[in-house]
Amino acid sequence: MLPLTLKLYPSWDIQKTAIPQRSRLYHLEPIGVGTPYVESLTGYVARLAEQHCVTVRRLTLTEIAPLMGKEIKLQDESISKVFGSNRDRTAFNGTGLMATNLVGAMSALTGRSDLHFLTLLPWAQVISKRGLLRRQRAWCPKCYQEWRDNDTSVYELLLWSINTAQVCQIHHQLLQEQCPHCHQRQLAISGDFRTGHCNKCAKWLGSNRDKTVVTSLIKSEAELRKQLNVVNNLGELIAVTPTLNSTPNFTIVSNTISTYIVEVLKSNIPAFSRLAGMNKATIGLWCKGKVIPQIGNLLLLTCYLEMSLLDFLTTDVLLADSKNTCPQPNLNVVKQTRKAPKHLNFQRKQVLNVVLIEVLLEYPAPSLENVALRLRYRPLVLQYHFPSLCEEIKVRHAEYRKESKQQKIQPILEAALKEFPPPSLLEINRRLGYKNNSYLYRYFSEPSRAISKRYKEYQKASGQEKRERICQEIIDTAQLLHKTGQKPTQARVTKLLAKPSVMLSWYAKKTLRDIQRSLGYE
Ligand SMILES: [Zn+2]
Ligand SMILES: [Zn+2]
Repeated sequence: MLPLTLKLYPSWDIQKTAIPQRSRLYHLEPIGVGTPYVESLTGYVARLAEQHCVTVRRLTLTEIAPLMGKEIKLQDESISKVFGSNRDRTAFNGTGLMATNLVGAMSALTGRSDLHFLTLLPWAQVISKRGLLRRQRAWCPKCYQEWRDNDTSVYELLLWSINTAQVCQIHHQLLQEQCPHCHQRQLAISGDFRTGHCNKCAKWLGSNRDKTVVTSLIKSEAELRKQLNVVNNLGELIAVTPTLNSTPNFTIVSNTISTYIVEVLKSNIPAFSRLAGMNKATIGLWCKGKVIPQIGNLLLLTCYLEMSLLDFLTTDVLLADSKNTCPQPNLNVVKQTRKAPKHLNFQRKQVLNVVLIEVLLEYPAPSLENVALRLRYRPLVLQYHFPSLCEEIKVRHAEYRKESKQQKIQPILEAALKEFPPPSLLEINRRLGYKNNSYLYRYFSEPSRAISKRYKEYQKASGQEKRERICQEIIDTAQLLHKTGQKPTQARVTKLLAKPSVMLSWYAKKTLRDIQRSLGYE
């Protein structure tokens, strides 16, 4: 008999699942995208070769070359046909066609769409190619060593390809360009390239115990701070690249440059040109928006304007200005010609206004720079939005400084007037750290004159006294010689004096002649 009910089994899905497209090579994830420590494209090529256990040469000749439209013969062993034989291979990490081509080839091989972040391509329109990249490979030995010790991937930083980046952001030491073992310089990518190793002698480039890498030291703390500021600015730029809404474009930057130079530097162009060591004609070209400054000059300019490089390259000043529709705090103030360096909303402005008014009651009166630092704004921003309050802060601080200086100096001058032997005014200046008398004469004229007068009188008196003492000594010596039957000649007298050199002075000679005559010698 058949059972009354049939048992139901779960059904089988026989629909084919769509398999995502395979990439020819590993879909290797780049290191550090979205951080200042993103790897470089040339470094990525080397790491990909390592993952496939082949040399960069093999990877280039067999896989990359066909995609870059280069014909390679079987016997070819050099990668120069693909990467060029000149010393500009870092250009593959830059902003030009070489970088575009390699990104295209590597994206096709790995199926990745984020490889242009390993180059400076996103900034192509706003950063000049000239002087952007260094011609050789550079590295931080300590970074290499730390990665190896921590068992993380050793790689090459994009930041290390940029010419103006001289120091490591983490280890605060100069980047290396020369192998400590064979002392040779190297290309950014070559057939035998291995991350963390010398291209020439294949030795480890990290700083380890066996081979201490001697890096030239940075001369001063100020120099280090300057270099770190440069690296931080560049790092910030690289880090935000993946999150940019639109590609930074030439029009915005040339507007920014001309606005800042015309409005902010207006009267200061000579000062700026001296500081940056460039001629005014070049700055003129920037103003007209005809030329984008080179990276080094952009950094100097932004440092001078106290702005970050990122803000400078990505903020549309004209747009920021038209948005700035808040009523002006005081319509009677002198019309400001400077453009708003930063947009502030109405509430924020009111809060800052209250804070700045409170600052005016503080004692000791802080400087505007100090206030700006506390509020995390640039002094230029505060000055633009609160011109009269900032002016008052500056005046108060200047008065405070003058007053505190006076309070410090006055007792020193009073003490000097009682000191014995009386010191000269120059001596007092030296003690206070001034090179000459002008400051004290100008601001403390009365005590300064008193000190000078006292010193001169003492000098005059002590000179007279000294002279009398010397003459007496000469008379005594001459009489002594005469008593012992010797003629008191100049040679004999001089020999017996405590300080024979005094005999050179005219009054000593005159005294001796007088005493000789009175004793009956001619
Ligand atoms: Zn480092
Ligand atoms: Zn070497």
